[in-house]
Amino acid sequence: MRKLGDTDVFNKTIALRVDLNVPVEDGEVLDDTRILAIIPTLKYLEEKNAKVILLSHFGRPAPGAVDSKFSLLPVAKKLEKVINKQVPLFGSLDEVNFDKEISLMENTRFLSGELENDEDLSKQLANIADVYIFDAFGTSHRAHASTYGAIQASESSCAGLLLEDEISALKETMKSQESPILSIVGGSKVSSKLEVIKSLSRISDEVLTGGGITNTFLKAQGNNVGLSLCEDSMLSNARELLESSKILLPEEVIVSKSIDSDIKRICKITSVKDDEMILDQILSPTAIEKIASAKKIIWNGPVGVFEQKAFSEGTKDLANAIAASSAFSLAGGGETLLAIKMFIDKSKISYCSTGGGAFLEFLEGKELPSLSALSFKF
Ligand code: ADP
Ligand code: MG
Repeated sequence: MRKLGDTDVFNKTIALRVDLNVPVEDGEVLDDTRILAIIPTLKYLEEKNAKVILLSHFGRPAPGAVDSKFSLLPVAKKLEKVINKQVPLFGSLDEVNFDKEISLMENTRFLSGELENDEDLSKQLANIADVYIFDAFGTSHRAHASTYGAIQASESSCAGLLLEDEISALKETMKSQESPILSIVGGSKVSSKLEVIKSLSRISDEVLTGGGITNTFLKAQGNNVGLSLCEDSMLSNARELLESSKILLPEEVIVSKSIDSDIKRICKITSVKDDEMILDQILSPTAIEKIASAKKIIWNGPVGVFEQKAFSEGTKDLANAIAASSAFSLAGGGETLLAIKMFIDKSKISYCSTGGGAFLEFLEGKELPSLSALSFKF
């Protein structure tokens, strides 16, 4: 992979693909870990007198259309405060200019062709600037135009400093394979995480599942999940995974009739009613014991809708249990980092990655598309 240190960026214009997909509520950035993580690359480029356009996706808008709910404006505002400089936000590629030292381009997912890795869009992105730098470790598992095609299409491209750091740190932590290794996967993206769980079950002794993704497993086992988030198209995959008997499921969950309600009850996984949804879970004695006795813990994804106090206990207890365990712990993911910030002292986690899905796929030993594209840039 070509490194930033080996690339000529002096006085150049730079397109810098970063991962600024941070949790935002009411226009406020709730966790700035991913913003702070790009500072070393920005500083390096500043010293080289380079001008930078930042590119990032943000959330999951309907592809190819502008949707103000998914604007990067709150992120631009936060970045301005962090670096104490103006950061103009460009609404479209036509508006891009290098008048300021650092600018931000609106959500890449507003661009049609981004998700499809469209060739024309890739070329357009690659041609914005002299050099295309990829520093979005958290998105390196996606072959999109800004994370794959543009790297290929650019005349000069390289890895940023965050990407370099993440990879060397993760490689280092993978050296120890002392068992038991426990993986913990929560969150909401069922279809994208099932494949990951499958691979993690190969490199771990057990996989504890939680959050929205558990519901598909619970249903696959024959339980009623009522109105819970669940992906029926994934039921047979879930059933197959359960056969490996490496998957640990919750025993008791917190259910409510609505995500906006504080009225909730604890119930066994076998007694969820049709008009209820699972929004949090109780950390079972088995899970507590496994976390305490693990030698290595890999964690991605909250086990409940922890952003709401009423459904935060499971994730809070989980974070505390991991913090208290003597295991070497690795955690990553946008919301996971926020949960860590909310509930525990970050230093209690041995390594925090800015990546969620990418972090898990890297640990599985999968080839990450952005890294492959970069490795061809010599
Ligand atoms: P990360 O960003 O750490 O990779 P994800 O993006 O996969 O994690 O998932 C985080 C989201 O999952 C949180 O916003 C949380 O509210 C949601 N979530 C967790 N449990 C549930 C549940 N039972 N039902 C619906 N959403 C859930
Ligand atoms: Mg997330």
